Amino acid sequence: MKSTCIASLTLYAQWQPFRDGTYRCSGGRSAEGFDSTIVAIASADGTVGYGEMAPLGSFYDPAFAEGARAAMRELAPRLVGEDAAGIDALNRRMDLLLKGHPYAKSAIDMALWDLAGKSTGRSVAQLTGGADGESVALYRSLAQEAPDQMAARARKYIGEGYRRLQVKIGLDVDEDIARLEAVRAAVPSGTVLFCDANASWGTAETRRFLLATRQLDYTLEQPCASYDENLAIRRATDRPLVLDETIDGVDVLLRAMSDGLVDGITIKLARVGGISRARLIRDIAAARNLKITIEDTGGAQIDTAAYTALMLSTPQGLRQHTVDFHNWVTVSNARGDFGIADGAMSAPGGPGLGVEVDPDMLGDAIFTTSC
Ligand SMILES: [Mg+2]
Repeated sequence: MKSTCIASLTLYAQWQPFRDGTYRCSGGRSAEGFDSTIVAIASADGTVGYGEMAPLGSFYDPAFAEGARAAMRELAPRLVGEDAAGIDALNRRMDLLLKGHPYAKSAIDMALWDLAGKSTGRSVAQLTGGADGESVALYRSLAQEAPDQMAARARKYIGEGYRRLQVKIGLDVDEDIARLEAVRAAVPSGTVLFCDANASWGTAETRRFLLATRQLDYTLEQPCASYDENLAIRRATDRPLVLDETIDGVDVLLRAMSDGLVDGITIKLARVGGISRARLIRDIAAARNLKITIEDTGGAQIDTAAYTALMLSTPQGLRQHTVDFHNWVTVSNARGDFGIADGAMSAPGGPGLGVEVDPDMLGDAIFTTSC
């Protein structure tokens, strides 16, 4: 057996409670933490790569934790014995074996990149194009609360060093206008604000919000669910527009670029199927100078290290921001120095994802298969 052959694949589950309590977004959707799944892939020479996938509840994307685990159990026995170094070939094999379910494939793909880095002594940022600079800007989400509560929380996050805030909107338009006005008034003028409706408005609500907030400085994120609704908004406003939930693969990005729909995109690793697909989408978007955010739907240190690495290898001038998910939760799954300062985060050094996973942090395996 070649030294890079997959000798075993093991799954762990980790419940990651939120440090700041219940997370709420539009429509009354909420979560108390991330239900994370961690994959360990060992090669024949004993090197182990780790990947992680955690959905935001079962409501955010077409993904849920038990679905991810079931799909990984389906795939895992048919991946052992394959060459871990052939990441593209393994992604094609996963697509052949299981149609769809990119969120389940994401953690496996991530573990293969970690393994490739450890095997070659290179970081994932180096392997995906080379780090541009040392750190990436962070944003912090302001979950939906009363306007004065959101303003107070905004001041708290500014005090903690964040310079970019994402205001969760998408409920009653008048209340959302008040939310944005309260937050804008509470933070320094240079604070970058994104208003994220998480796909919950129609065009009527979005147009009312845009009209009422015309004098305020912010970027609008994913106001509506469908592609055509967002396109109608694009054609009605000169406000910078970023899409997140819509960006689930290459096809929709090509269409959006052709229609001049987006000024920026948010790529979530789990939504698109992992680092490999995210990198492809990133590179196509970069070719058209779109602004780029790379992050995920949840997770702790392993996941944070993965999307931070891909953000670092994205040209600095095209980066929007990312998120420090490992600081959202009260448990950890690896050790790594993320070096957060002045609202920016650096990736841990070292090969692969650069984090050191302590298997004791993960508890007992929920599944393992080997050849
Ligand atoms: Mg978003």
